Formats: sequence, C-alpha cells, structure tokens
Amino acid sequence: MAHALDGLGIEHFLIVEKAASAGGTWRDNRYPGAACDVPSHLYSLSFAANPNWSRLFPRQKEILDHLQRTAAPWIARDRIRFGWSLRSLRWDADARLWHIESSGGERLQARHVVTAMGGLHVPGWPDIAGRDLFAGQQCHSARWPDDLAVAGKRVGVIGTGTSAIQLVPELARDAAALHVFQRTPVWILPRRDRAIPRWLQRVFAAMPPLRLALRGALYVMLESMSITLLRPRMAFAARAMARRHLRSQVLDPRLRAQLQAHYPIGCKRIALSDDYYPALSRPNVQLDTAAIEAIERDGVRMADGRRIALDVLVFATGFRPLDVLSGIEILGRDAESLASRWADRPRTANGIAVPGFPNLFFLLGPNTALGHNSVLYMIESQARHVAGLIGRARRAGKSCIEATEAAEARFIHDIDTAFPRTAWAGGCSSWYVDRQGRNIALWVGPSWAYRLRLRRALKRDYRID
Ligand code: NAP
Repeated sequence: MAHALDGLGIEHFLIVEKAASAGGTWRDNRYPGAACDVPSHLYSLSFAANPNWSRLFPRQKEILDHLQRTAAPWIARDRIRFGWSLRSLRWDADARLWHIESSGGERLQARHVVTAMGGLHVPGWPDIAGRDLFAGQQCHSARWPDDLAVAGKRVGVIGTGTSAIQLVPELARDAAALHVFQRTPVWILPRRDRAIPRWLQRVFAAMPPLRLALRGALYVMLESMSITLLRPRMAFAARAMARRHLRSQVLDPRLRAQLQAHYPIGCKRIALSDDYYPALSRPNVQLDTAAIEAIERDGVRMADGRRIALDVLVFATGFRPLDVLSGIEILGRDAESLASRWADRPRTANGIAVPGFPNLFFLLGPNTALGHNSVLYMIESQARHVAGLIGRARRAGKSCIEATEAAEARFIHDIDTAFPRTAWAGGCSSWYVDRQGRNIALWVGPSWAYRLRLRRALKRDYRID
C-alpha cells in the first residue's frame, strides 16, 4: 500500500503496526519447519524483486528477512510506527475524516484508512477442557516460544493442518516421543523443494526477464490448480497423485488407512510435504485418531480412557479469522458499528469496502483469500485499486469514496452463487466457512478474474462525493 501511495505522489501517510517489527505472519509463525507453500519467486511483491531466493519454497526466516528489507525504506522515512495497537475508528462526517485511537490512548486523524491486519492472525485455541491444568510447557504454533526445547521430551501435537504438517517432522527428529493427535486427515501432495544454486541466483540477478518468465510460469502453473478447486470433478489427477504419494511413503496399511482423507481434495487447504508421512513412520512417533476428552496435569486423557503422558503440548489448531476485528470499535456514517453490520457475516464490496463506511478500505478483507495461488497477487491488486480510487477522488477534488449497496450485494451474490460448486463446499470443516457453511474467506474464481473485477469496480462500485 505504501508503494502504491508513493506511486501517486502521496507523501502524507503513516503505517501503524502493533508489533515491534515488520513481517506479519512471517514474524509471528516461527515454529520449526515454517515455510511457504507458494514458490519463492512468486511469493514476493512485484516491485521487490529478489533474485537470491535460496530455495524453491522459501522458509520463514528468509521470507521475514526479505519483508524486513522491503519495509526498510519506509522505516527509514519514518512512515511506520511500531507498538501502536488500534482500538477504534470513528468516521466524522462533517470533517470527512477518520478519528483513530490506539489502545494507549493516542489519537490520529486521516482522510483515508486502509486496514491490512491479515486474516490468520488470532490463534485458535481449541475448546478442550483442562488446558489450564497442564503442568508442562504448552504453546500455539503461531506463538512459538524461543525457549522451547523438545530434545528428550514427550511431545504432543494437536491438529494436522498445514502448520502441523510442517512442524511434526522437525519435532520428530528431536523429541523422545511424539504423539500426533489427528481429528481429520488431510490431502498431501509431494513438495519437491530444492535449493536454488548460487549460479542460478546470479543468472536471475543478471537477467531480470528470466526471473520474470519464471514468475509468470509459476503463476500459470498454480492458477491451473484453481480448476481442481473450482470444479471438483476435474480433481482426479490431484487425487491420484496424493494417493500415490501416500502409498509410496507409508507402507503400514493401518497407518495408511488412518491418513487417507475422505473429503473432496482441496476442501481443506492441500498440504505439500515430503517429510510428514516418513516422520509418522518413525519408531518414536505415534498417530492417534481417537478423540481427546480432556487435558490433565501431566498429559491428555482420551475418550477411550487412555492417558498419554506429555511434557510439552503444541496446539497446531489454526486461527480465528472472524476475531481479527474483535476488540476494535469501527463506527461509520451515522455511528453505525461495523461489528453489528457484520453480526450475521462479513459483507463487503469486492472484499475491500463497506457501504456506510466511507474512505475505509480492507486489504485481504473477507472473501479475498486464495486456496491455490499467491495471496500477494490479491493484496497487490487491492492496493493498486485503493490507490486508484484515492487518486481519482483527489484529481476530482472530492473527499469521500463509498462503496454502493448494489456493489456489496453483487459481490456477495457472485461469491455465494459460485461457492456450492467448488471443492471448498465439500462438507469438510475449515476456516474458509462459518458455522452455517457460508464462505467467509475465499475468493471463488481465478485470481486474474479478481483483478479484472477490480478494474470494472473502479468505475462502477463507488460513489465519489
Ligand atoms: P488449520 O488448517 O485450521 O488446522 C487446524 C488443525 O487443528 C486441524 O487439523 C483441526 O482438525 C485441528 N483442531 C482444531 N481444533 C481441534 C480440537 N478441538 N481437537 C482436535 N483437533 C483440533 O490451521 P493451520 O494448520 O495453522 O493452517 C491454517 C492456514 O494457515 C492454512 O489453511 C494456510 O492457509 C495457512 N498456512 C500455510 C502454510 C504454508 O504455506 N505452508 C503453513 C501453515 C499455515 P479438523 O481438521 O478436524 O478441524
């Protein structure tokens, strides 16, 4: 967003960030094995090229370093204020400004506000009785403590989503015993990660078009995956590949049966891993598919009566996307609260703007996450769109940009009409859907179609006064 505002020549902006440093999800998710499932040359902002990615799939530390380098110029220009946590936003219709207050009581005013708070940000702790009683060390995958050493310890991991799948092989190497509690098996495809040799990094640095060609090819390759997700009957190849991967890596038929997913592939996020299945076959690792009844002082009690003694308990239990704004009061025109407007479900025009909340824009808002490609593509599309709107209003000497009710209704209608045909609506539980099974998270379509939609929306979906 900062880059897009620079492009407009807007000097007067400030980014506020509640943490002490930049990096977002890649600063917070520091569990062993954390890495991205989108290839590095695609998982980078288009204006922040990095020819020196060391691996096909970037690891957390390398992404974080890259992001912090990318943010450095704005930090140097004093455009980012850290340790500033948002408490409230209040629209002042007379002054046509947002009044912004931090939890420390500091006040700011802004003509436009862009929220870029991310969707997977509030850790989801499971509702299992007795968590407070556990006497050993416990943590969430997204809040990994620096001092957690598992060597020689009995470790339990609850959850088998993409975080757990990256975490388990690392813990299995050091723990004396690792107990993996699986409620639902996931579909896993081969990862085939590899190092990018130094000579190739030098070629990318010397020949930017080559790097761009690779980026384009990776984009097209991942985009073709959207067919699997949007039309599940076309998913036979992905399903067959996942089954082959399981058969070739897990020889024990009982373990294989426990690991076979039974919902449509893609309904939950597809994991990529070459070392998760082998880790589960290690003698110090046990997969447990029974239900957990309670957490006790020295371990976990299972519904079948067994007690598993543990020294460390890791919750790889995901996030609460609907809680991202909880504790933040947002009052729009006529003091309408966003929380009450969204009490049933979050509704927006194009995932970006809400009628009644002028000059407020969301990056990665509801229904703009992706299940198949780089989410940075969506974020950049949105940042350009918001900058385009602000630029248009400024050129016309106007100060209020507001999404129309029709645009909001059209977006929700388009999302809801397309969703039932997709793999995501296949009946599994995931953070993509709410309790009523409605999609609250994902864009339903190819990512390029979203960019085209935003182009049309620029002229059609807003009132600029
Ligand atoms: P997640 O996909 O939501 O998985 C949470 C896991 O915890 C699931 O296996 C879930 O079981 C289990 N769980 C939740 N509550 C439980 C309970 N009460 N008892 C037993 N098990 C419970 O979370 P995540 O793995 O952190 O991933 C979240 C998202 O982050 C992903 O979808 C992806 O978008 C992103 N991510 C990406 C990467 C990557 O790029 N490689 C890595 C990590 C995360 P059920 O399935 O039965 O609900």
